[in-house]
Amino acid sequence: MRLALEQAALAGDAGEVPVGAVVMRHGQVIATGRNNPLASHDPTAHAEIAALRAAASALGNYRLDECELFVTLEPCAMCSGAMLHARLKRVVFGARDPKTGTAGSVIDLFAEARLNHQTSVRGDVLAEESATLLQGFFARRRAQQRDQARLAHPLRDDALRTPDAAFEGLPDYPWSPHYISDLPALDGLRMHYLDEGAPGRLTFLCLHGHPTWSYLYRKMIPAFLAAGHRVVAPDLLGFGKSDKPKHVRFHTFSRHRQTLLELIDRLDLRNIVLVAHDAGGLLGLTLPLAEPARYQGLLLMNTLLSVDGQALPPEFADWRHECTRQAADDTARLMARASRNLAPKELAAYRAPFPDRGHRAALRAFMPGLAGDMAVDEAVISRQANRFYSERWAGHAMVAAGALDPAFGVSMMAGLASTIKGCRPLMVIPDAGHFLPEQGKQLAHDAASYFDHMIRTS
Ligand SMILES: [Zn+2]
Repeated sequence: MRLALEQAALAGDAGEVPVGAVVMRHGQVIATGRNNPLASHDPTAHAEIAALRAAASALGNYRLDECELFVTLEPCAMCSGAMLHARLKRVVFGARDPKTGTAGSVIDLFAEARLNHQTSVRGDVLAEESATLLQGFFARRRAQQRDQARLAHPLRDDALRTPDAAFEGLPDYPWSPHYISDLPALDGLRMHYLDEGAPGRLTFLCLHGHPTWSYLYRKMIPAFLAAGHRVVAPDLLGFGKSDKPKHVRFHTFSRHRQTLLELIDRLDLRNIVLVAHDAGGLLGLTLPLAEPARYQGLLLMNTLLSVDGQALPPEFADWRHECTRQAADDTARLMARASRNLAPKELAAYRAPFPDRGHRAALRAFMPGLAGDMAVDEAVISRQANRFYSERWAGHAMVAAGALDPAFGVSMMAGLASTIKGCRPLMVIPDAGHFLPEQGKQLAHDAASYFDHMIRTS
């Protein structure tokens, strides 16, 4: 029976239900067998059948009169029938099988006096070992099935998912996707993020704005990685490779904020340098409030902290309106106008997440919902963030401005830098527009060494 248990374990290792069998004759092992129906596509490939075939072949005789068969689980009707045909002398089995066992559990074929051959049978030999093997196997299989269901991330009825094919062969975006759908705030929606580099030193958490996605950071990510840091770059819901809820009203400040807080908590990100652009700052700059200890630095590019209670320059409102209209219409055209050096393939990458109008709810919703018309609780959080950076912020900060940005220009970025305690003087990049990360390669190198230096010396 020990040998049969070894065979059962081998079957389990191969992903089959772990059942093993051994045939003995005059005290000698003449054959072994193990369960194998899945791999062999054979419903008859039970351990006992395999052992009977091997024994008959070894003896050159289909009758196994003098033989005894040891099997770890009570035999089924098929195997019991085969054993009776083989005229086995004795059958010894381990655990009982209340569902398909035919040596006493469901029926007892071996006690059926109307059958011509009688084989003696004994059960419950090393039954506990056999049962433990089976229970462990089924527990592992259930856990695997749960994992697979989780990884499959079924698509919700009220959302769309851009097909993977749309993202094939993007220039300078070689990183593997990571998906998550089991954060409470996601409610089953699938969120995509990049997670590159080893944890341990700084983590550059890169938040895109409107109408971009993690692709925006493709020129900065390699610089952070080369300096030995980790990079996490999520696509907000409605953007990039993340699921796209169909309704505009899905996109609230609180929901996006909560999703990011839960992602940071789940990935347990520490020593974070928050990298934010555009609306990514409006959302992202409220995150350190929740858990200041996780943050070491800020790298802010053409973004804003809060618009609550502030008189915005009129060009900002105009730009915001125009940007929303154009992006919802054609993201690539907007990007081409705002950032002149983009190649056709890069423009296509910005258009890729949004194949049709249905996929563009976030583009229609995002800026009006986030930068203005704020709900009361959102305005409260933004006000708290303002106070937090001027009074309590204990990390390091860099603010950079693409000088050609018509909305988040130099004066607005200088204003932002002046509200953050201990912020380095504003960096102005003269030939860059709103989408500064597109020209951010050198800035990323500078930022990596600046934060490294500041943290080493503080
Ligand atoms: Zn069987």
